[in-house]
Amino acid sequence: MTEAYDWYRMPHRVSIRCPNCGSPAEYEFAAVARIKRKADIEYFQKSGSFEYHLFEDSSGSRWHGAVFYHGLGGITLGEVSDLPEGCRAEDWHHSHGLSAGSVTCHACGCRRMHTLKWPDEAYFQIDYKGKVLWAFDRESATVLLDYVRSETRQRDGKWKAFLLHIPSHFLKKKGREEISKKLGKLLLSAC
Ligand SMILES: [Zn+2]
Repeated sequence: MTEAYDWYRMPHRVSIRCPNCGSPAEYEFAAVARIKRKADIEYFQKSGSFEYHLFEDSSGSRWHGAVFYHGLGGITLGEVSDLPEGCRAEDWHHSHGLSAGSVTCHACGCRRMHTLKWPDEAYFQIDYKGKVLWAFDRESATVLLDYVRSETRQRDGKWKAFLLHIPSHFLKKKGREEISKKLGKLLLSAC
């Protein structure tokens, strides 16, 4: 049994194991917009590009939402040409709370809706003494490998917050060799 640590500020896209073939695949959170006019609900219910959903916020009030799954309809949000009047692509925001999104795998061609189980499905994950060390994608995994290997533990740039949340369990000197080896191997296998 392995234990995972939590980290909530997720990027919009992460690398996961393809649910179909196990290769590295891209997962992207769905984007949601509030449907402002009741008259537009029907458009979103019928649209092939969106999914209509009745949401409930924490105070219990309900609202009508249009969910967009990236990569599924073959077009981007900006390319949807028949949006109802007053709706703009900028109205849609990634919804991490939803856990709903889409997976795209170039190895097997799989492209479908998917509910993310994080970090269980992280492609870049290794086990070290009963705990799972994970990274969001290839770039953060590469930065993580450098970080584990380095003596100075410098945390700069885009992945600073990510590195700050790495539990000390993985950063002890005695684990350096095994963790670097496993991470390095994983990065090579995902080329
Ligand atoms: Zn696949």
